Amino acid sequence: MNIILLGPPGAGKGTQAARLVEDRDMIQLSTGDMLREARTSGTEMGKKVAAVMDRGELVTDEIVIGLIREKLEGPEKGGFIFDGFPRTLAQADALEALMAEMGKKLDCAIELRVRDEVLVDRIVNRAKEAAAAGKPVRADDNEESLKVRLMEYYKKTSPLLGYYHAKDKLKRVDGLAEMAVVEASIKAILDS
Ligand code: AMP
Repeated sequence: MNIILLGPPGAGKGTQAARLVEDRDMIQLSTGDMLREARTSGTEMGKKVAAVMDRGELVTDEIVIGLIREKLEGPEKGGFIFDGFPRTLAQADALEALMAEMGKKLDCAIELRVRDEVLVDRIVNRAKEAAAAGKPVRADDNEESLKVRLMEYYKKTSPLLGYYHAKDKLKRVDGLAEMAVVEASIKAILDS
């Protein structure tokens, strides 16, 4: 199965993707992780996107589509989980074209529904926990960048809900439920 996890920053996409990787041998394709990796390894592309990411804005469609294309050519195992991609209608169209080109299909897009107030708390906590554990704190996990990230979500990514609904591929789960409950809801969708 190939699925998309949709939802604003802090909705729990990464957490849930990690669980599916562990349990279902799926492959998590997080463009955010790929971009952070490019920054850490100091590639030209990584340097180019750093400031944009720190502000909380989206990087260009061209860059993320290129990253995804490379990964789709790799092993598929239990299927792909797109986490944080697509984030624009152009990316959604590109994904569809890429999958068709490779004889693959997208099964569904699962929306993790949450309230904005919760997102701010979750992200501020994520930063605090990382700091306490001596792990690097994401440069965009602060309130100012989060505001921009949320606005980017509403302006550019939320139209994808209508897009996948129209294609009869949209599923919804309550992202405010306990982690294990969210996980069970997602697995029930995959098994249905
Ligand atoms: P994330 O880890 O998914 O929250 O992504 C962190 C940041 O990486 C975002 O705020 C964007 O700057 C950038 N990014 C990640 N995925 C995408 C995407 N699909 N399109 C554009 N920018 C992205």
